[in-house]
Amino acid sequence: MKITLLGTGSPIPDPRRAGPSTLVRTDGACILVDCGRGVLLRLTAAGVLPPMLHAVLVTHLHSDHITDLNDVITTHWIMAPQGAPLRVYGPPRTQEVVNGIMASLAPDLQYRLDHHADLTWTPDVQVTEVAPGDTFTVGSATVTVGATDHRPVEPTVAFRVDDGGKSVVLGGDGVPCAGLDTLCAGADAYVQTVIRDDLVKLVPVQRLQDILDYHSTVEQSAETATRAGVSTLVLTHYVPSMQPGQEDEWRARAAAHFSGTIVLGDDLTTVDI
Ligand SMILES: [Zn+2]
Ligand SMILES: [Zn+2]
Repeated sequence: MKITLLGTGSPIPDPRRAGPSTLVRTDGACILVDCGRGVLLRLTAAGVLPPMLHAVLVTHLHSDHITDLNDVITTHWIMAPQGAPLRVYGPPRTQEVVNGIMASLAPDLQYRLDHHADLTWTPDVQVTEVAPGDTFTVGSATVTVGATDHRPVEPTVAFRVDDGGKSVVLGGDGVPCAGLDTLCAGADAYVQTVIRDDLVKLVPVQRLQDILDYHSTVEQSAETATRAGVSTLVLTHYVPSMQPGQEDEWRARAAAHFSGTIVLGDDLTTVDI
């Protein structure tokens, strides 16, 4: 199982980091988790084109995690064989978001349908809204849905992907909680979006201070990894953006609470488990 951090950024634009998005590949499944800013640039750099995706999983509907879902939908439609569906799994209201995206794409769809005689179908986006405890199959993988705590944003979910005897949990955004602990228990790898609360607290901007109460810190993600007994902790969605030369500092904060392998880095950082 191969895990690639496609985008390690956050809502704040960063020329070096795309928005939050992670790719999970096994021998029989290719799964995109969240669709942040620039996702298709990074997906292509990882050697994957939209028609190769078996599913898109959405952890929650914050804009930084879905801003380029429209690009995935449009490009999948243009590049996929006739009528191939794009399967999207996400929390309640995902269908509403996809409906809105489709409405925004109406002029484009009409232009292309009018122009290309061989294009006779519209995007077939098949949305499944999921809840904690649900399981479903994507390619050869089994996906399990778990609860996360990103309140006041709710509902939000995490996904565990099991395939070929390996497993990874994509934690999305949120603070540690029992649902996440349960989902992570015994997993090989755990991918968590994180903030550095020590650095955020230095910025006297209320809107930034507001994020402290609904994101895991680096230390908290390490504590979750230890409680769950995972082997590999993967950190992403760095707030504030991890600057060149800061990797050891971020890693040390996690290592103080977790003795396994810690993975972090730039976009396209990949780990094989
Ligand atoms: Zn969020
Ligand atoms: Zn986020």
